[in-house]
Amino acid sequence: MSACTYCGCDVTAHDPVFVAELADGDRLPAGQFCNYGCLAAHIDEAGLTEGTACRID
Ligand SMILES: [Zn+2]
Repeated sequence: MSACTYCGCDVTAHDPVFVAELADGDRLPAGQFCNYGCLAAHIDEAGLTEGTACRID
C-alpha cells in the first residue's frame, strides 16, 4: 500500500510523484503523492517553502 502523504489515497491509482531529501549523501524518502496537486497542497499546508528559496531576487 502506497498511501499519499497528503490525502492518504493509494498513489499507484493516480500519477504518483515521489519526493526525496538528501542526508549525508543518501536519498531519504520525504513523501509520496497522487500527483502534483497533492504535492502542492501538502507543501502549502505544511509551509515547506517558507524561507527556503535557493535564490532571492
Ligand atoms: Zn493524494
